[in-house]
Amino acid sequence: MAAESEKIYECQVKRRRLKLGGGYEPFWKLKSVIEALSDDDTEFRCPDCTGAVRLHRRYVVDAPLPYISHKLKTDSEYCTAGSFFRKATDGRQPRLSQHPVR
Ligand SMILES: [Zn+2]
Repeated sequence: MAAESEKIYECQVKRRRLKLGGGYEPFWKLKSVIEALSDDDTEFRCPDCTGAVRLHRRYVVDAPLPYISHKLKTDSEYCTAGSFFRKATDGRQPRLSQHPVR
């Protein structure tokens, strides 16, 4: 189970760009979640640990901004944006996701 209380307002979205010499190559672009939604982005990941995230859209008028949270608890435990990481008191070091979204 992921941390339901987690709210991350920035994400990376997968985009494609023209490659030198022809063709396209994917790259990850940092933007706010609300901006990604208005741009119709569909592929998201955590900007800090590159782990998989769940998207939470705004669904009532007075709700806060749309946000993402980690899908994997292990990501949340070792990501600087993770709620479990922030609550940890063992002085652990952050690390990239062991299941990065590529
Ligand atoms: Zn993360």
